[in-house]
Amino acid sequence: MTYAGVFSFVQSLFITNVEAQDVVYHNSQTIPLLAASISPDPDADKGGPEVSFDETGMFIVAETGLFSLLPGEYVSATGKEENVYIVRPGDTLSHIAELFNVKSETIRWRNDLGAKEYIRAGQDLKIPPADGVYHKIKKGDTLGGIAKAYKAETSAIKTFNGVVDASGLQVGKEIFIPGGKSSVAVKTQTSSSSQKSTYVKVLSSVPSQISSDKLGEWMWPVNGGVVTQGYGSTSFANRSGYYKGNNHGGVDIGAPRGTAIVAAKDGVVTMSQWYYGYGNLVEIKHDDGTITRYGHNTSNSVKKGQRVVQGQVIAKLGSTGRVTGPHVHFEIRDANGKQMEDNVFYQTYLNY
Ligand SMILES: [Zn+2]
Repeated sequence: MTYAGVFSFVQSLFITNVEAQDVVYHNSQTIPLLAASISPDPDADKGGPEVSFDETGMFIVAETGLFSLLPGEYVSATGKEENVYIVRPGDTLSHIAELFNVKSETIRWRNDLGAKEYIRAGQDLKIPPADGVYHKIKKGDTLGGIAKAYKAETSAIKTFNGVVDASGLQVGKEIFIPGGKSSVAVKTQTSSSSQKSTYVKVLSSVPSQISSDKLGEWMWPVNGGVVTQGYGSTSFANRSGYYKGNNHGGVDIGAPRGTAIVAAKDGVVTMSQWYYGYGNLVEIKHDDGTITRYGHNTSNSVKKGQRVVQGQVIAKLGSTGRVTGPHVHFEIRDANGKQMEDNVFYQTYLNY
């Protein structure tokens, strides 16, 4: 066997190994409770039953699940989380700033970007929750002193960080200074040249297995990866008998553990929790009513109620729940929670 042959043989083993097993996972605690609560009412979202099943056979608990969602019902986010965004081809810094409702300079300061520095597609950017800067508490710091150093208001710092005086400041802790200006900006305040440099050039692209013109409005939810199981009556589904009707309700994309998972479209996080066979699951309700799910994550980095934009990092890829290897189980559903079978991901990898 040639070296290349050995490599592809090993690779084929790896791909088989990461094939998903999103098994309906019962334990002694869930079976009797859920079995007692099943309702025959197919319109479970309209009424009473507390527990139902979704199409993959996964349990839906009304309080937190799909069927409790109504437009306008979202819990508002605290507005205090820092977000992470992966730059997309064609993005400009000013466009990203607009998406998050902050100034370009806020993003530049947070990411130590020079005034003329480019951003690249695929690059991670930290996005503060509002305009301002972060400050790491040093011994002897006072709120007044910090406010003065960043040309900010003491009262705003107190409110945002929930502290009343300097005794609430823990040395080494990072606090956010709303309205604060970076020390670099304070020193060179007279210069306005940085205002012009918000245009950025894209230097590389995020890999994808569906060409970008076919992907339409959806974004490939991981940086790279390989589809290990498609949607529907897949060979694995038939061989294993793990899924209801031998249908796999999603697309599995294998990638190294820890790979960033990003939102496929703008929306609001409707679940970020451990969810049966899904392991750590993030569910997003998009502005057009469609719903996406991202399962088996090592960790979720968004909270329920948080607004996210397309390309924003929502989780780290992993192998939690019932799986044989690290991958993301990605689903697209319509506004009623039904699998949206005509979407480009499912159609490209139908019965694959
Ligand atoms: Zn899956």
